[in-house]
Parts: sequence; structure tokens; C-alpha cells
Amino acid sequence: MRNGQIKERLSKCFGRAGAWLDDLLFPEKVLCLGCESALGEDDEDGICPACRRALDALAAEQETWEKETHDVLPEGIAYVHSAFAYDAQARTLVRLLKYRSIRAAALPLAKGMAMLPAGEEELIVPVPTDERRRKRRGFNQATLIANHLAVMWGMPVLEALVRVRPCAPQTGLNEQQRRENLVDSMAVSMRSVGQIRRKRVLLIDDVYTTGSTAAEAARALLDAGAMSVGILTAARAHIGNGDKEVPFLAQYKHAAAAEKRKKPRNT
Ligand SMILES: [Zn+2]
Repeated sequence: MRNGQIKERLSKCFGRAGAWLDDLLFPEKVLCLGCESALGEDDEDGICPACRRALDALAAEQETWEKETHDVLPEGIAYVHSAFAYDAQARTLVRLLKYRSIRAAALPLAKGMAMLPAGEEELIVPVPTDERRRKRRGFNQATLIANHLAVMWGMPVLEALVRVRPCAPQTGLNEQQRRENLVDSMAVSMRSVGQIRRKRVLLIDDVYTTGSTAAEAARALLDAGAMSVGILTAARAHIGNGDKEVPFLAQYKHAAAAEKRKKPRNT
């Protein structure tokens, strides 16, 4: 049985205790997170030199992609940036984090994100995950990434967003279904509203696919009175047309404008 399969079984059978056993039996300092080859003493963040080069290439690919692709952003969204193209080693790291509860995979992703120019945000808010999945995993992957960024940038993290109803996993749904699955599924918690109002918020997530999750989270933050939202994710899936418009965000813009005409905000 491969290490990966053993890890999966441990986490399936023992949940959080499995993740702990997993760390004990397979200390991540020994094997590369990206390829499971042995690490040298100088290798940082659990990544071997070959995987480091692969991550650098994915970062360069994402940078080029962003230069050539212009997201049409609704009012209130400052920007959308991602550190890596969602492929190869970047995808491996995200999967380790999400499906195998390997916390160490958050650091190399966060370090890639920290290489991007920071905006004028005052506060980091992670995208919330479904409570059931968070319990099974033992953590919210976006919060882990956000916590690393908070240390690197000296910015506060606020888990301001909550899921107000359970949603089916987004995986396997088309864009339309993803959107419908998430409508009004997030809100700013009562105790966080005061800290969100009139703030420039940096929203953090692991992967940006169609943008539906990020857009729903941004909608909740803007509805709670945030001044602006910058969206930063570890990876971005280069799906479909790679054109000049992010369909979901564009649609959100139109819906928000229609809503505003119907019921102007008091603030
Ligand atoms: Zn490697």
C-alpha cells in the first residue's frame, strides 16, 4: 500500500486523530509534499528543488494568464489574483490540504500568494467551508492559508463569514449549478459586522474555478458594508474560454445593480 493510501485510510478511520497519527508516522519534513521524494536539509517548506521549479513555472504561467485575461469585475471587487495555475504540483498541494488534511501543504501555497503585490486591504477574511466538511478535515483550508499570510504581512485575520445553509460540494457541477448551489449561502456573522463595515477586505480561498464561491463570499461582505473586496486565491483553474469576462462575476454585477435599483441601500 502506498503512503498516500495509508494516509487516506488513517484520516477516514480516525478523523482528526488520523491526521495526528499521519503527522507522526509520515513527518512532512522527510518527504516532498509534491512528489514524495526524500528532502535535503536545505529544502524549505516541504518542497524539493524539482517541485519548487515546477511551482515557479505555475506561478509564471498564472502571471502571464492574468496579463492576458481581464476579469470584468462588479462594483466593489478590487481585483482577482491567484498565485499559481491550478495544475501539477499546485493541484497536488491543494488536494493534500483539502482531501488528506495535510496542514503543511498550506505554507508553500501561502508563500506563493505572498509574492503577489499586496493591495490596500486592512483585514483578511477566509472563505468559510461547510461545517460538516470542516469537522471532517479538522480545519478550514482557507483559514490555514490566511493565517500564514497574516503572519507574513502583519495583517489581522477575521473569520467573519459563515455558511448560513449547507451546500452540496461544488465539484462536478457546471457553472449554472454552482451558482444556484451557492445563492445566499453565506453571511457575515452578527459579531463581525462592526469590524467589516467600511473596511477594505482581502478575501482568501484555495482555488478559483468559476468564481461562484468567491463572488458569493464577496456579496456577503459587501452587503455587510465592506468598502471593497480583493480576491486572492492560491490557485486558479484556467477553464474554458479564458476570455475577457468572468461569467459569474459579471452576472453578479447585473443582479446587484438590479437589486440596487429596486431597494437602494441606506448606507
Ligand atoms: Zn518534489
